[in-house]
Amino acid sequence: MEFRYDANQSPASASRRAEILANPGFGQYFSDHMVTIDWTADLPGQEEAFQAGEYLKMVGEWSDARVEPYGPLSLSPAAAVLHYAQEIFEGLKAYRHDDGSIWTFRPHRNAARMNRSAHRMAMPQLPEDVFVQAIEELVARDHAWVPNGEGQSLYLRPFMIATEEFLGVRPAHNFSFHVIASPAGNYFGGELKPVSIWVSRDFARAGEGGTGAAKFGGNYAASLAAQLQGASRGHDQVIFLDRSPDESLEELGGMNVFFVTKDNKLITPKLTGTILEGITRDSILQLGAEQGLEVEERRITFNEWKDGVASGDIQEVFACGTAAVITPIGQVADREEVHTTPSTDFPVANALRNRLIGIQTGVEEDTHGWMHRL
Ligand code: PMP
Repeated sequence: MEFRYDANQSPASASRRAEILANPGFGQYFSDHMVTIDWTADLPGQEEAFQAGEYLKMVGEWSDARVEPYGPLSLSPAAAVLHYAQEIFEGLKAYRHDDGSIWTFRPHRNAARMNRSAHRMAMPQLPEDVFVQAIEELVARDHAWVPNGEGQSLYLRPFMIATEEFLGVRPAHNFSFHVIASPAGNYFGGELKPVSIWVSRDFARAGEGGTGAAKFGGNYAASLAAQLQGASRGHDQVIFLDRSPDESLEELGGMNVFFVTKDNKLITPKLTGTILEGITRDSILQLGAEQGLEVEERRITFNEWKDGVASGDIQEVFACGTAAVITPIGQVADREEVHTTPSTDFPVANALRNRLIGIQTGVEEDTHGWMHRL
C-alpha cells in the first residue's frame, strides 16, 4: 500500500526529544507522527455476504494511507466509537539494537490478533502485511524516538475505531486504523521488584461468550474499578477469576500469569475464550520448554495458588506482557488474606526474562525468527 507523507512539517525539537527519552515513563509522550488508514464499507458487497450467511464479514476498502503529524483526530460527536465502543487496539514495541538497527517482536502475531479482535467486534479485517507496513512507515519517520537506554523501547499502539456519524446500533460503515508511538521505560517504574496482586472478587473482567479474548477497549474500562479497589489497598495489579464454583484464574488487567513449581513445571491458564492470547505468554511457553521446563496450559484454581505457595509446591509466580515483559509476583491478597510467593529471587522468571529481553534487544540469537527489522 502507498503511504502519503508531506515533508513540510516541523517535528519536535531534538532537545525536547532528548529530554523525554532520558526519562520517558510509560505512555505519556508521543512521537512526531501517526499513521492513519480509512475504511469504507461496500454496502452491496456486505449485503451479499450477509445473505450468504457470512454475517460478520465486513466488506469494504482501505484507502488514503498516510503518515501525518501526531495530533488530535477530527471526529463527529456522533461517531459510533464514542457511543457503542467499537474500538480495538494492539501493543508492541520497537527496540534499538547496539548497531543502531531497529526491530520489533513478532508483529504478524499482533496483526493476526487484531483481526481476531476485529472479527469479534464486527469490525473490518486489515491485511496483516498492511498492519506491519504501517508500523514500518511510522518508525521510518520517527526512528529518532526509539530510545536505547536499558529497558527502554518505543511502544507502538495500533488501534481501530468506528468513525461513522450515526447513532443506530449496528456495525459502523466507516472506520479508521491508526498507529501512534510512545517512548517507554520500565512499566512499573524504577527497579524491577516483585509486585503485589489483589484478587478481584467484586468485579469480573470477562465472561463466557463475552469479549475477554479481544483486545477491545471496553475490557479495560471494565477492569478499572477492580484496579482502583486493589490500588486503594496498596496493590499494584489485579487478578481476575472466572465465576465458576472452582474459581479458576483468568489473567491480570493487562498481563497473563504463570506459575513455576518445585518440580520444574511452568503452568499458565489455558486459553478459554475469556482471556487474551498474549504474545509474551506464547513466547514464554516456547522458551520455557526449551529451557527444560515441563509446560502446562490448563485450568488453575485460586485454591491451587494459595495452597501451592503455602506448601512450597509453587515456587514462583509471575506476570507477563509486552509492557512489563516478565514481572515477579511477590504476593497475592484475597481481601485480608495475603499469600506470599516462596521465592524471593525468582530464578526461573529471571532466566526467562533475560532470554526474552536478550532476543528482543539483539544480544541473544533469535533462533525462532521472532524479530522483524523495521
Ligand atoms: N492480557 C491482557 C488483558 C493484556 O492487555 C495484555 C497486553 N496486551 C496481555 C494479557 C499480554 O499480551 P501480550 O503479551 O501480547 O502483550
